[in-house]
Amino acid sequence: MSLRIGVIGTGMIGQDHIRRLTQVLSGVEVVAVSDIDLDRAKAAAPEGADVFDRPEALIGADRVQAVVICSWGPAHEEQLLACIAAGKPVFCEKPLVTSEAAVLRVMDAEVEFGRRLVQVGFMRRFDADYRRLKAVIDGGTLGAPLLYHSAHRNASVPETWTSDMPLTDTLVHDADISRWLLGDAVTGVEVRVPRRNRRGKDLRDPAFVLLHMVSGAIVDVEISVNIAYGYDIRGEVSCEEGVASLPNRPAPVVSDRHGIRQAIPDDWRERFIEAYDREFHEWIVAAGEGTATGPSTWDGYAATLVADAALRAVDSGRLEPVTMRKKPPLNGTAVSAAE
Ligand code: NAP
Repeated sequence: MSLRIGVIGTGMIGQDHIRRLTQVLSGVEVVAVSDIDLDRAKAAAPEGADVFDRPEALIGADRVQAVVICSWGPAHEEQLLACIAAGKPVFCEKPLVTSEAAVLRVMDAEVEFGRRLVQVGFMRRFDADYRRLKAVIDGGTLGAPLLYHSAHRNASVPETWTSDMPLTDTLVHDADISRWLLGDAVTGVEVRVPRRNRRGKDLRDPAFVLLHMVSGAIVDVEISVNIAYGYDIRGEVSCEEGVASLPNRPAPVVSDRHGIRQAIPDDWRERFIEAYDREFHEWIVAAGEGTATGPSTWDGYAATLVADAALRAVDSGRLEPVTMRKKPPLNGTAVSAAE
């Protein structure tokens, strides 16, 4: 029997996930959608799905067994808490929430419920290239990782973006993948803001972030959100005895009178299409059993603390510490004894 799910938020990624859930994956049925823009929800609703104007009504509907949250970050906390109170497994797009206080409330609610219900949308962990890169690092043939260079470049972002969002909405991906890839934890964050990209108008863009890890390794992250030419995600790990890099996506090499070139994805939908499919495949299996696997509230917590520290570092110009509480007793993804 199919898992009956409801999708909250039918914007860009909500529509893409509805396509994935209705046209790509099996064992799942989208039976409800909701958006604060009711017309947008109606337009995105698959045939036969109920359309709700309030997320709480969708979460409470008997027909809905599990929930996918694709609304904007500040709305996530309330929606997550309602899913946990209803005991319904929930996939929540990143950022899990937008403040430390909020993430603690969500984590506490899940712990009190007594079982994992939440998976966070850190899809890079499901990407075949990142998985192969991690296998090389974990294999140990290159020695210990010392430096990780991560670049996160978006062609553009919506007009509604504020200067904090490259740190609260974008950096969270790099923070999570750094912890996962290196099997490490972040202890401090520095931020440098170089000359601004004129295309970003008033945005603090680009931002250059340093993550100090428990092992002593350092991660540098370039966040650029207006680079015009496409969606360009890079990663290179320098180890004691070698370097391992994320390959560029395989794409046809075109030769013509302009030269030899390879296409760059337009955005995240194209670059991570298989990763999103895989993360949802795994989520559907776990949600069908009434639980969650993959990136957890703990991982969302770690990323939120990095974003919070990055915002403080912008103001102070200094290295801002990241101090995590003790890991609660729920089966999550342990990444380091330091946690
Ligand atoms: P978007 O196009 O602005 O869509 C968000 C949608 O949610 C909009 O339709 C918005 O309506 C609606 N919404 C806002 N508050 C709501 C609420 N309280 N209840 C129901 N609907 C609500 O944004 P998006 O690009 O799809 O991003 C959505 C989320 O996914 C964000 O958290 C974003 O960071 C995340 N995301 C993740 C990835 C990834 O790679 N994993 C990629 C892209 C986005 P209005 O437009 O009327 O406000």
